[in-house]
Amino acid sequence: MSSKTIDNRYSAFVNGEWIKGSKEIISLNPADRRDQVAIFTEADKDQVRAAADSARSAYKKWANTPAPVRAGMIQNFGRLVEQNKLALSKVLTREIGKPFRESMGEVQEVIDTCNFFISEGRRLYGQTVPSEMPNKELFTYRRPIGVFGCITACNFPAAVPSWYFVPALVAGNTCVWKPSEDALATAYYYTELMQKAGFPQGVFNVVFGNGPTTGAAFIDLIDEGKFDKIGFTGSTAIGKRIGEACGRNLQTPCLELGGKNPLIVAEDANIDLALDGVIFSSFGTAGQRCTSLGNLIIHHKIYDNFITKLVAKTKAIKIGVPTNEKNFYGPLISERFLRSHETHLAKLVEKHHELPLGKGGHIGHGVNWEHFDGDAENGFYTRPNFVLNVSMKDSIYSTETFGPLVNVLKYQDDDEAMAMANNHGYGLSSAIYTSDPQRIYKFKNEITAGMSSINNSTTGAEAHLPFGGNGKSGNGGRQSGIWVVDQFTKWHSVNWDMSGKLQLAQMDTEYVEPDMNYRF
Ligand code: NAD
Repeated sequence: MSSKTIDNRYSAFVNGEWIKGSKEIISLNPADRRDQVAIFTEADKDQVRAAADSARSAYKKWANTPAPVRAGMIQNFGRLVEQNKLALSKVLTREIGKPFRESMGEVQEVIDTCNFFISEGRRLYGQTVPSEMPNKELFTYRRPIGVFGCITACNFPAAVPSWYFVPALVAGNTCVWKPSEDALATAYYYTELMQKAGFPQGVFNVVFGNGPTTGAAFIDLIDEGKFDKIGFTGSTAIGKRIGEACGRNLQTPCLELGGKNPLIVAEDANIDLALDGVIFSSFGTAGQRCTSLGNLIIHHKIYDNFITKLVAKTKAIKIGVPTNEKNFYGPLISERFLRSHETHLAKLVEKHHELPLGKGGHIGHGVNWEHFDGDAENGFYTRPNFVLNVSMKDSIYSTETFGPLVNVLKYQDDDEAMAMANNHGYGLSSAIYTSDPQRIYKFKNEITAGMSSINNSTTGAEAHLPFGGNGKSGNGGRQSGIWVVDQFTKWHSVNWDMSGKLQLAQMDTEYVEPDMNYRF
């Protein structure tokens, strides 16, 4: 893997030009903090404004570009990503520590999303609708919304932006993106590929920077009227602030937020299948997926046996350098997540809890892991952990921990399992392992999450199925699949009267009266 540092001090890509700022930001390789992956600078408020203005200037021409031509550029982008799949996956693994196989999967999702939406450029269907008046026609059109501002998280720095930008651009919107400060190099190459795909200047703009500075400036610009639509993927706390700003401006954002995803293991579950699903849901991507398992809910009759097997299986997990295919997970994405993991262990684990894998924490810094091949001194590696005896009253039950830390709850009957699966207030993903169709039916009907797996992991998405959550996980907006076109277009109704006179609907409509005197 290349250890070249991208040292260009860019702060933004505005109107087709890279520009620089003054305050440095650096993304580090979380497997080895000595490896600087990218050195950029922060976009200040004026630069964010310039990016939004550039998108505004490019909007009219882009909206009037035929949709199949717009989609042709998405096709170009998808082909370029495909051609650079290996290189982009390597950058992703180096920058956020995602196991290489998962990085390749993430980049494939970008390609799948492009492939799915290319043909939408030849649809974006409106309707012809019958009028109640003669010599009058009614139509509906999908119109683009305008300037789309988007802030994204660190854990899916290529796939999630594509879920937004691919449909947004096909639909005729122009874009401003603030990628995560933890994935600067990934965002840089992503932008380069966008540029090479042929999008006109100003159609796709990017601003780099930290959340409290560049991100906050981005939110301020909602009040300045610089954006017509906002997409945000990240934590619930920041999502709420964005929702407030959008609400003040009568906009509906797409908010894709945190999760505390439940997985129920029923008494009739296939235990080996459930164990595999639990381990991947818990520790895939080191537990740093929005869909990672938060609350494992096990039936009391199988509880002891399941925990014994789960602990044994988890102890065999290999942790270490994300380029080694044998390692199940690599480091946490950045030092920030290592610190918050340690805080969770210190503050959320209570006296009545039990940690069957021992105290967790930073590997090599007071704790060890038997199967570990990383650089403990310089990497942000942590042990996996299950927290037993969790109840619905405990703070850890309803706090997203975003790391390899999973609660375990024991249930007596299906109603209690459903309460445990729903009461934390998040509603992103969910899963059940059972062989009983009645139980599956109950689960599907009563779960409040936006996504559910039956006999499968809580994690994993396909480019053509709606992705998103409810409650603290989002405002009900969805990404992926055909439905997302509704996020990026607004309906325009047109009536065209060719009668040559003023015809008033309802009042002049020539309805025929029935003969109400008729009786059998
Ligand atoms: P985060 O909220 O810390 O940051 C997300 C983005 O918001 C980043 O670009 C960040 O710079 C920016 N930001 C941070 N503070 C800001 C502020 N004050 N004003 C404006 N912008 C600000 O989230 P993260 O740590 O990058 O990612 C982890 C979170 O994202 C988890 O909660 C995870 O569940 C969630 N997530 C959700 C989904 C989903 O689809 N629902 C997908 C991925 C991640």
